[in-house]
Amino acid sequence: MGFFSDLGKKTTETTGKIARETKLKMKINENKGKIEDVYEEIGKKVYEKHLREENIDIKVDLESECSKLDELSKEIEDARLEILKLNQKKLCSNCSAEIEDGAMFCPKCGEKQISEPTVKEEPLEKLENGVVAPGKEQEAESVKEDLKEEIEQNNDKQ
Ligand SMILES: [Zn+2]
Repeated sequence: MGFFSDLGKKTTETTGKIARETKLKMKINENKGKIEDVYEEIGKKVYEKHLREENIDIKVDLESECSKLDELSKEIEDARLEILKLNQKKLCSNCSAEIEDGAMFCPKCGEKQISEPTVKEEPLEKLENGVVAPGKEQEAESVKEDLKEEIEQNNDKQ
């Protein structure tokens, strides 16, 4: 009996994973379609400007379209990363090859893989080296403290 109930459990897990992956893939395709629509809108706007013999100002005329594209692309990127995670894979930080999640080095280019927490050290470095706007010193200081604490906690976990 045990064998069959284990088998049932395993099947449910796999089904859940596949369902999630299918959903993410649908989201990617949906966003790709939306991106095409935004491109079309941009093209139309540019041509209308041409007809009226006006210059296009990307910052003014196409700001909302461009931020929509940013958002849609970000969602695609996130969905792709989640699919990789579902399959216990990640992307090499150097050549973007698909590699095993726990890999220390990329089998393709040999790049040493940095664990995620180190990414957080970058904003801290920027804060420490950056010039803080007048009146914002206290705010910057508390952000720095938070970041330091977070990095320490992450390092403890490893
Ligand atoms: Zn690589």
